[in-house]
Amino acid sequence: MVTGTEYTAAEDVAGSKLILEFSDLEKILIDMGMEYRDGEFEDPIPFPTTGINNLLLTHPHADHIGQVIKLCKAGFKGGIFTPYASADIATKIQLPQQANNFWMHNKRAQDLAKKGIYIPRKKVLWGYRDFKNIRDTQFRYFEEPEEGKKVQLGFPYETPIEILNKRDTKVTATFYEAGHIPGSSQILLEIEDKGVKSKILTSFDLGRTDYHIKGHPIADTPIVKAPHTDFPEDIDSMVIEATYGNKTHSGDDPREVLEDVINHTAKKNGQLIIGAFSIMRTHMLQYYLYDLDLQGKLPDNMHFYVTSPGADKCGRIMLKHQQDLDEEAIKRFIDKKDNFFYFDRLTHHNKVQQTKDALAQGDAINPCGWLASSGMFQGGRIERLLRNGGLQDPRNTILATGYQSPGTRGYDLINGATKIPFLDGGIIERKAEVRRMHGLSGHADIEELVAHVKNVCTPEESRRRDKMFRVYVKHGEKESCWAVKARLEKEGYVRENNAEVVVMKKGKSYDFGYRKAA
Ligand SMILES: [Zn+2]
Repeated sequence: MVTGTEYTAAEDVAGSKLILEFSDLEKILIDMGMEYRDGEFEDPIPFPTTGINNLLLTHPHADHIGQVIKLCKAGFKGGIFTPYASADIATKIQLPQQANNFWMHNKRAQDLAKKGIYIPRKKVLWGYRDFKNIRDTQFRYFEEPEEGKKVQLGFPYETPIEILNKRDTKVTATFYEAGHIPGSSQILLEIEDKGVKSKILTSFDLGRTDYHIKGHPIADTPIVKAPHTDFPEDIDSMVIEATYGNKTHSGDDPREVLEDVINHTAKKNGQLIIGAFSIMRTHMLQYYLYDLDLQGKLPDNMHFYVTSPGADKCGRIMLKHQQDLDEEAIKRFIDKKDNFFYFDRLTHHNKVQQTKDALAQGDAINPCGWLASSGMFQGGRIERLLRNGGLQDPRNTILATGYQSPGTRGYDLINGATKIPFLDGGIIERKAEVRRMHGLSGHADIEELVAHVKNVCTPEESRRRDKMFRVYVKHGEKESCWAVKARLEKEGYVRENNAEVVVMKKGKSYDFGYRKAA
């Protein structure tokens, strides 16, 4: 018997934690995500950590890996498995940042206290040394390094890896491209449990694959022209995300929006301030800028700055793992000084001082464009840009490039707020224009999700099978999850066709299907 239990991201978006449990009580955990709620690090983990052999990570976003340090501090001693680029982003960007979180927060509290503003300090639950210990002893790797070389953590795509080999349970995992961010994966688990075999595919998060990657996970859709991945034919169950389960992405071409906003800002001789997430979103925008530049569509006098150390690190990781990219992208990387990370019009500010120096020149750098995180205009270097005249100058344009969650500055900006508050109590009056860019999304919409499920098993195929094909839906707001179920049932994934769609509930265990050994 194999059961699957999602502890947090069921009828909910954040905090993915899926446990697979086998007959002999062996367990593996897939993702250990952050929930973005107060007190989540102090609260007990919602399942016993004993018996969990290994942890597999689908990708290095915080809502999938943000509680890894907490898990290890609570006694998890097993291995951590994830694709190459994911391991690099996790251990070079995300986890070090999280390891320093408590320290950073308390430092900020101390600085604000000097100004007479008091925010509560946090209890320090872990630090950088804990992270280093996890990286060095728990992250697993595929190949022994050559002598004198550093070990490359992580695993290649489409290569079966043994995860568990006990008397009654054998599990291999194969990572497939998920097209969501660099190193993101869908995990195929091939299980033998007391002689009974089953195959499970996890597809959270699933991207739109509209960038230059080699393995396209979704079947033909209007934006994916390349051939899709061939999955094994006999997958018994899938676990899919439902972030955009009740939405169809707009058909807007983000390049056109970008071109329009850039030229509009240049005409006003202003600055364009683009809020972008440091992992992937910034790189998509750099790619569009590069393309527009090649086509001669950018104003001659406009220069662009990227001020995001996280994005630069992630860019270097993408360049390092070119094996994940398609031929066209690799061709473009051959020229080390002319590609979408490095080109004449684009200056990277690794040090904050470079940004300070540029801003100190005032109008002299206009017109110009900035790419900075955070994508929700909350924290990070973008705050500096907003406060140093960015918001006050009517010649400027602020461009939001993604989802803005309620309670963030980005949410206020896109909803027309003119008084913009900052943590130190200051309020700045906004005179700059605010624009939005649709069409950029890291998640598949309902049409793409349906195409993906059909690629794995059509209702006609499931009718011919001797065991039921099941789709488990998680990682979405309640309405989105139920919308996915309704749509898939309409497509024929119903009992008469030997198929079933299940919306997962928090903490509830489900049968993950099985097949008798041949
Ligand atoms: Zn994600």
